[in-house]
Amino acid sequence: MAEAIITARELSFRYENEASLALNRLNFEVEKGGFVGIIGKSGAGKSTLAHVLSGIIPHRKSGDFYGAVSVCGMDTVDTPPEEISLRAGTVFQDIDAQMTASVVEDEILFGLENFSVPREEIEPRLTSALDALGIPHLRNREINTLSGGQKQKVAICSVLALRPDILILDEPTGELDPYSSRLIFGILRELNEKYGMTIIVIEQKIMLLCEFAKSLMVMDEGKIERYGAVRDVLSDSARLEELGVNIPRTVTLARSLEKMGLCKNIFPPVSVDEAEILVKNILRVNNHAEKENCHARH
Ligand code: ADP
Repeated sequence: MAEAIITARELSFRYENEASLALNRLNFEVEKGGFVGIIGKSGAGKSTLAHVLSGIIPHRKSGDFYGAVSVCGMDTVDTPPEEISLRAGTVFQDIDAQMTASVVEDEILFGLENFSVPREEIEPRLTSALDALGIPHLRNREINTLSGGQKQKVAICSVLALRPDILILDEPTGELDPYSSRLIFGILRELNEKYGMTIIVIEQKIMLLCEFAKSLMVMDEGKIERYGAVRDVLSDSARLEELGVNIPRTVTLARSLEKMGLCKNIFPPVSVDEAEILVKNILRVNNHAEKENCHARH
């Protein structure tokens, strides 16, 4: 395994005045340059984990915190969240609440100035972040005139301008249509591949995760139920269904074909293209077998 950029050891957290643990003895690592999709039904602990990784828990939300979490070598309990956010930028669900300015440029400048980025670095960082998101044309726009997808890009852009090593996003496509959702994931892939940025994304749309993420973490009742390469996690589709995770239809299709005896021991297809190849192969093999039978009969 490559070097770990995040390590959690025996991490548990209970919100103040709550009886049960929101996170229950988590032990995991995220490797540098990883692209992890976190999935699980509502209340599983996904957002709480994002708050822990950004240091908001335990610094700004109180409760009982157990264990240790290291993010870019910083112990999240000993390090102020402002310092963590320079290395691990987070875009939370309610982006409107996170926006402080009324114009796009000011929103991005706000972060840069707040974190005392040297004056001469401000303009290059602003332009390169706008370019990376493909939104230089939005620079002078009023934020309240933007679409949901554009706002999401601005929120990511503000974090990106700080040049973090890790980007954590909590349901970035929650409000977006399928086209804009894919655009956002395309950008995340580019940041991951081009700049080696570690991406952690909480997402309900499993097909997007399967296509873009490298690993899947499935959470349930504050615990990590499964964590590994996307295909490995998907291969236990029965367990995922029990956990309330929607299985990609391409995987359900492959399982049905297996049950019908048309294929066996196959890797679950994680995209429509892969499912198409599988079906074409089955048809080709069957056609071939039929022709052989015909020859044999005549
Ligand atoms: P998810 O993001 O997977 O939907 P959450 O992390 O939001 O799950 O919630 C995990 C558990 O913690 C749930 O039982 C939820 O009710 C509880 N919880 C979340 N936020 C708070 C809070 N601010 N105060 C008390 N309990 C909370």
